[in-house]
Amino acid sequence: MKAHDGMYIDGDWRPAAGTGTIEVVNPADEQVIAHVPAGGAEDVDAAVRAARAAFPGWAATPPAERAARLAALRGVLAARQGEIAETVTAELGAPPQLAQAVHAGLPVVVAGSYAELAASYAFEEKVGNSTVLHEPLGVVGAITPWNYPLHQVVAKVAPALAAGCTVVLKPAEDTPLTAQLFAEAVHEAGLPAGVFNLVTGFGPVAGQALAEHEGVDLVSFTGSTAVGRKIGAIAGAGVKRVALELGGKSANVILPSADLAKAVAVGVANVMANSGQTCSAWTRMLVPADRYEEAVGLAATAVAKYVPGERVGPLVNARQLERVRGYIRTGLDEGARLVAGGPDAPLETGYYVAPTVFADVTPGMTIAQEEIFGPVLSILKYEDEDEALRIANGTVYGLAGAVWAGDEAEAAAFARRMDTGQVDINGGRFNPLAPFGGYKQSGVGRELGAHGLAEYLQTKSLQF
Ligand code: ADP
Repeated sequence: MKAHDGMYIDGDWRPAAGTGTIEVVNPADEQVIAHVPAGGAEDVDAAVRAARAAFPGWAATPPAERAARLAALRGVLAARQGEIAETVTAELGAPPQLAQAVHAGLPVVVAGSYAELAASYAFEEKVGNSTVLHEPLGVVGAITPWNYPLHQVVAKVAPALAAGCTVVLKPAEDTPLTAQLFAEAVHEAGLPAGVFNLVTGFGPVAGQALAEHEGVDLVSFTGSTAVGRKIGAIAGAGVKRVALELGGKSANVILPSADLAKAVAVGVANVMANSGQTCSAWTRMLVPADRYEEAVGLAATAVAKYVPGERVGPLVNARQLERVRGYIRTGLDEGARLVAGGPDAPLETGYYVAPTVFADVTPGMTIAQEEIFGPVLSILKYEDEDEALRIANGTVYGLAGAVWAGDEAEAAAFARRMDTGQVDINGGRFNPLAPFGGYKQSGVGRELGAHGLAEYLQTKSLQF
């Protein structure tokens, strides 16, 4: 795999300040595929200085011109989709079809949406005798996870650039090659030097240095709630804006009038996609008591299609593998009934987990409360709608969810009572313009669409 041995700073690949490296491992065969530099505070400082120097020029660039650069970036991402998909497969282990359609495909759509929004967004409005200006916030420190390596980057960088901000990106240490490809795409798209900068490195070193840097005006983080809490505290101490996209434990609520077979099949597919490494996955399926065993049987049949090494890829690394297998053992210890899968390794090499379904899960069990981040589905039982709502809302998270019913209005009425940021009604399609983000401990702020762009703006009021 192709790797750069430097950092992308001020429009060029520059040697890292130190000599440390990150080993990039293919989780499907456990082989080292590349090394990239592990940056530190000095690299972060150089990148933030470049971003600061580029900020006034980029902020003053007319939105139509920013839009044209983003359209060019979209074009490069589209042209290099095959190469991007191969890289995501190599460092994340995503099956090729998923890599092509989602990991490489979705960022093209999101970049395109921000090319359009940059051109059409109302950066000025009239409020009574005032003109309110929506101005770029400044330098953005973006810290991203590995689960959707390019989408997470584009969902921050594209709106930041559309808003007129400049960016320093610290991508996840497991998936730096995709981030390097993105930096190449930015370069090819002709963005001015310093507008986008990349520092690869470890979270507690490079990530922390970026969050703490006083030249950063906004920290946008996606990752675990544990690290999100730290980033929030650092940003609070520095009086910086912060956006946090954290964990989830979303409910898939199947109401009595729903098409059970469809709801279960789509629900299983949602959890197994990307090997369960999706923060918005509907990992708790809620089923009416009188149809419970039927739903469990349907889930067992549906999950059999998800064969490790074919339709399901590995987890990203050995640490995640051990974590997820630990949760499966905890589920067994706490008395849940194993319907499919289990803690044993399904393949000899690679960080694979058997797609797992638990029945007889009660709301207080660890596997019904904590984010597992693997292909593990818990099926819970409810007696009436009020109990379903209590269970659905009964975790510290509130990122996503689903409701199924005989008609949309009934499902939507239930969804209005859910404490969560996104709900799919009867299998509603993903909308790349809909705001994405969490209630409660799932985060602060929203990504995607116009709401995602607004995160990177601050207002100034002129009175006349
Ligand atoms: P996960 O557990 O899913 O890997 P993390 O929250 O650990 O998620 O990582 C998400 C991102 O946060 C990664 O880019 C990682 O390097 C970074 N990170 C981890 N720890 C810190 C930290 N202490 N400060 C700043 N960034 C961090």
